[in-house]
Parts: sequence; C-alpha cells; structure tokens
Amino acid sequence: MAELVLPGGDLEKLYTAVLFGADAVYLGGKEFSLRAYAANFDPGTMAEGVSWLHKNNKKAYITVNILAHNQDFARLPAYLEKLQELKVDALIISDLGVFRSARKYAPAIPITVSTQANVCNYEAAALYEELGARRVVLARELSLDEIAHICYKTQLEVEVFIHGAMCSSYSGRCMLSSFMTGRSANQGECAYPCRYRYRVMEEQRPGQWFSVTEDERGTYIFNSRDLCLLDNIPDLLAAGVKALKVEGRMKSPLYVACTAKVYRDALDCLKLEGIEEFINRKDLWQQELDRIASRPYTSGFISGQDTYMQDLKNSPPMSRTDFCGTVTAFNQEQKILYIRQRSPFGLNDDLELFTPSALLPITISELYDETGTPIEYARHPLQTVRIPYPFPVPEYSVLRRRAAFV
Ligand code: SF4
Repeated sequence: MAELVLPGGDLEKLYTAVLFGADAVYLGGKEFSLRAYAANFDPGTMAEGVSWLHKNNKKAYITVNILAHNQDFARLPAYLEKLQELKVDALIISDLGVFRSARKYAPAIPITVSTQANVCNYEAAALYEELGARRVVLARELSLDEIAHICYKTQLEVEVFIHGAMCSSYSGRCMLSSFMTGRSANQGECAYPCRYRYRVMEEQRPGQWFSVTEDERGTYIFNSRDLCLLDNIPDLLAAGVKALKVEGRMKSPLYVACTAKVYRDALDCLKLEGIEEFINRKDLWQQELDRIASRPYTSGFISGQDTYMQDLKNSPPMSRTDFCGTVTAFNQEQKILYIRQRSPFGLNDDLELFTPSALLPITISELYDETGTPIEYARHPLQTVRIPYPFPVPEYSVLRRRAAFV
C-alpha cells in the first residue's frame, strides 16, 4: 500500500499529521527549503520533530528544494551534515547543485527528487536514477497514463501529489512573484500574485481575443483551483505509485488533520475492504474535504484533458469550517479538556471535536480561562481555555464549528 505523506509546517502540524494517519511528514529548515513563510524548523525543533517521528515509526523527509545560487553553498554543507547526523529519512531536492552537495556531505541519506524539478518523463527519471536518487515526486502536470508509463520504466519510487494548492506555472517555476513583489517563488518566498485580480488588455494584437471571464471586481485568470485526486487513488495505486502526497506546509492544523484522516481512511479502506467499499464511502470523504479551506477542486491533468483549472470568481480559499482550537491535554481526574484557542467561540455554541477515531458533537455549557475563572467567550488567539468533558480526547484533536455540508 502506498505511503501517505503529509506536510509538517511546524511541530504542532507534524504531531497532528501523524495522529490523524500520516506515514511520513515532510518539513523544512529555516533555510534552503521552499515555503520560507511557513514557521519551519530551527535546529532544535528539527531534532525534536525527527526524533519524535522515528520513535513513532514514521518517516521524516526534509525539504532542501530551493533553486540554489552560488552563495547558498557556503552554509549548505554544514546543514546537510547536520541532517545526516539526525538520520533523516530523505532529502527532497530539486537543484542539481544541491543534489551533488547532498551526495558529498550527506551520502547516507536517500534523495527524493522534488516536484520542483518538474520530472515529466521517464528519461528524466532515468537520469535521476543514475545520479543516485531513490524516489521522484513527479510534476503535477501529468496524466494518469504518463504516470503509469514512468512507473513502468523506472526503478525509482514514484510519489505524486493528490491534494492541495496548484501553481499556474510548472510546479513553482514562476517569476511572477519575483517580478511583481521582489519575493522569489524559487527561493520559497512566493507572494501568490497568481491569486490577485487581473484585467487583461492587449492593444497590439487586433483580432486576437483572450477568453476571459470577469465580474465587476476583475478576473482571476491565473488563480488555479486546488487539486483533489480522491477519486483517482485506486488508479494511481494500480499504476504503481508508491507514495501519495498532500500539499500545504502553510495550511492550518485543521487542514492537516482533515486531509490526513480522509486519505488514511481511503487507503485503509482500499487495503482492507476493497474497491466496492471505497466507492460506497467516497462521497462522505469528499464531503469532509469540501469542509476544509480550499478553492474549488480540480483533478488537474490526471485525465489528460484540459479540465477547468482556474477559479475565475474568487482569490482566497473558501473556508467552510471554523478552526476553534486544538486539544492540548485532558485532565482525567477533573474531566477537563484543555484547548488552545484559534478562533472565537463561547457558551452555548454547538461545536464538534474532530478526533482520529470519531467526530464528537459538543455544546459548550461551561467555559473557563487558564486560571479556572468562568468566561463567556474564548476570544484571544492561542489562549488556553478549559471545557468540562466526560471522556479523554487525544492531544492534537481539533475543535471546530459545525457547518452545513456544501
Ligand atoms: S505566483 Fe502562483 S504560479 Fe507563481 S509560484 Fe507562486 S503560487 Fe505558483
């Protein structure tokens, strides 16, 4: 069965990913990793996260996937040596210079070729195989047939993205952010200008019309929908894909929990109960995915046709569920849940606890601050509040506001 790989933007998300079903977590240091605006890991938290993953028999994959410039190689060797000391399970690399340095300074650590390297064909996979890579994360711009053909032709393990935000360029190879904001996507600093509103004017080409849908606010012609390949998992496994990956190191713990749980359940169902039960349960999983913050979903390039890829109406992801907080502890004697609050909630609110094994409705009839003083609302982000609750709930379970399915 394929490995399920989840994003770990910080320690909380790393723990959440594993609690809800990840087999492996990918994470980045403060340097050399795309997603410079995720919290990321300093040497201390990196060591803590990797050690915790290993204790729990999970894998730690470290992103070192910037397109490096000369000056990056002054500090890179020491960083790679440190990662080798930590015995991380793979380095995710796109740049050939970084690849070469990794072979030299961390030869014991397997290399995964990042999606940022845009491997779209079996010849490129063969070259990376010759160079000593163990796995390749294919470009997201491939059809199922192309993925299957590459799996057939290569000895590399093949990993594909099944969920998350997309680029309107080839997997991040894009100058838009650098040009418009001075923040380079290829250095992990993308400002997402593809999500801005645009108006297109072409004065010099009379008679050549661009098809643009717009409303009174403009148009979002570059704004890609989010990928969701839940339906395609059986075909991807049959094609020989060895790992399924969820995008989103900058997304919330709620996103990590929901995607991990849905895809874990889907994979386990296929393994233990078979394709018929997978088909029976697919709509319920899709409803769960529909509740997390996302742009409208697309199956991307998987069918090999031009699917409807852009969201022309909106820019930010739509959130259908409030992330009220994270369970940090349960006091068995006092039957008290401790919640680190993220968005406001208060007395009489009907909420739900999203745990790895069950969805538990909860009405807030009593609420206390960290000192035990009764309060009516939890309003301060990251404040710890207490709620009486009769049963233990695992740490890193999520408190969320119930929302109608959409
Ligand atoms: S601006 Fe958009 S297309 Fe370009 S790298 Fe960023 S997310 Fe991708």
